[in-house]
Amino acid sequence: MNYKTDWVYNPAPESADHVRIQERYDLFINGKFIPSVKNAYFKTINPANENKLAQVAEAQKTDVGLAVRAAKKAYENIWSKMDPSERGKYIFRIARLIQERAREFAVIESLDGGKPIRESRDVDIPLAAAHFFYYAGWADKLEYAFPGRKTQPVGVAGQIIPWNFPLLMAAWKLAPALATGNTVVLKPAETTPLTAMKLAEIIQECELPPGVVNIVNGGGETGQALVEHPDVDKIAFTGSTEVGKFIMKTVAGTGKKYTLELGGKAANIIFEDAPLDQAVEGIITGIFFNQGHVCCAGSRLFVQESVAETVISKLKNRMETLIVGDPLDKNTDIGAINSKAQLDKIKMYVDIGQKEGGEIFQSSCNLPKKGYWHAPSLFTGVSQSHRVVQEEIFGPVLAIQSFRTVDEVIAKANNTPFGLSGGVWTDKGSKIFALSKAIRAGVIWANTFNKFDPSSPFGGYKESGLGREGGLEGLMPYVHLV
Ligand code: NAD
Repeated sequence: MNYKTDWVYNPAPESADHVRIQERYDLFINGKFIPSVKNAYFKTINPANENKLAQVAEAQKTDVGLAVRAAKKAYENIWSKMDPSERGKYIFRIARLIQERAREFAVIESLDGGKPIRESRDVDIPLAAAHFFYYAGWADKLEYAFPGRKTQPVGVAGQIIPWNFPLLMAAWKLAPALATGNTVVLKPAETTPLTAMKLAEIIQECELPPGVVNIVNGGGETGQALVEHPDVDKIAFTGSTEVGKFIMKTVAGTGKKYTLELGGKAANIIFEDAPLDQAVEGIITGIFFNQGHVCCAGSRLFVQESVAETVISKLKNRMETLIVGDPLDKNTDIGAINSKAQLDKIKMYVDIGQKEGGEIFQSSCNLPKKGYWHAPSLFTGVSQSHRVVQEEIFGPVLAIQSFRTVDEVIAKANNTPFGLSGGVWTDKGSKIFALSKAIRAGVIWANTFNKFDPSSPFGGYKESGLGREGGLEGLMPYVHLV
């Protein structure tokens, strides 16, 4: 059946009237907004139309030093000594204020990052608030988290985050660090600084003691200055495997604690006994959710040979119905690619895939003229050695292969340098248990995909990283057990 229709949905744009974006944002250090020492600014744009949204102060090494000094002072004099239940109250306050301003946060996330408002409204912002609520609850219960042990905070945490889930990644980092008594210098990604600056406003409104959370914007050099600073006791990094390896080398031998949440190339595995229509929805969510800008995206699809033709045909039909366009429109399924650099990278891989002999299918949607856009795409006729199968593209590009037996698909799924996530679709519980044990990945979803909860730990094997974030396990990197 071909689902493609000529229907056009009426526009249903989310209002942006209530959103306040300043022309300029400064650094947030010691509870105040201050310019960088060099008075340097960079612009952040809306990737859906390339319009400038704001100027953002770029932190230099000296600014990072000031932020770390403020964090160290706040750690030694206030935060580490505060009664844990009081710390918890501050974190609850942050969570509640995010909820109160959820619509504003969602619109800004979509404007600055390009993701559909449905996702920022229903996933990013509620999950960010949920993370603060969850860890606020742990603040005065650490003796139950680690029975029979006492915990000591680590000190100043330097936290570096990517652009795909800006506020959510900030929440993953800040909430457990604060709950365990650490202070923070956070560096957001250079293409999505705005919701972190809004979070800074909330932190001020909550009257969090000055210096407990500091936010410095900038690119790789700013991040590197934070990693190298001798008074930073722990590094929490989420980003590419390449930068993760560099950070690992930098902190080697310094005694700093570190966690690395890196890239992925998840296998989504469909057996012939799976509910196929549901599985097709899962594949769509797995790879096209957030334009494929997801570390745990189901970017490799393995379909059992007997149903491969059916699944691929259903998938192509479903791809044709996806609405690509204005991120602020509530009907939009696929928004803008986050930056020109990322769009170029995706196009490069699509080119490589074709040159290596893969057969491409792209949905026939009309892409907007301005801004950064890529049609949902899939490759068939590829094998394990193709680069589109092996390397992380971080865009809406799916590589499909078939398999016959359980052993074969386990071997194929594990033939990757990554190990972040995976998905299994089958009617048989025994297959789910067998595969989730055999596949070397931090999270395996069964008959669903890309589901998150603050109480579930998340993290990778192999080149997908070290350590866990979320859940009880997410407290561990921020404490010394005594
Ligand atoms: P990136 O590594 O280029 O940048 C991530 C952050 O690191 C940014 O804030 C950047 O400014 C900073 N940075 C860059 N160079 C640095 C350096 N030398 N020292 C310190 N900091 C530096 O990654 P990206 O392109 O922003 O994000 C995409 C990547 O993030 C993908 O590989 C994706 O899989 C990964 N990711 C992983 C997870 C996870 O939980 N495992 C979650 C989201 C994204």
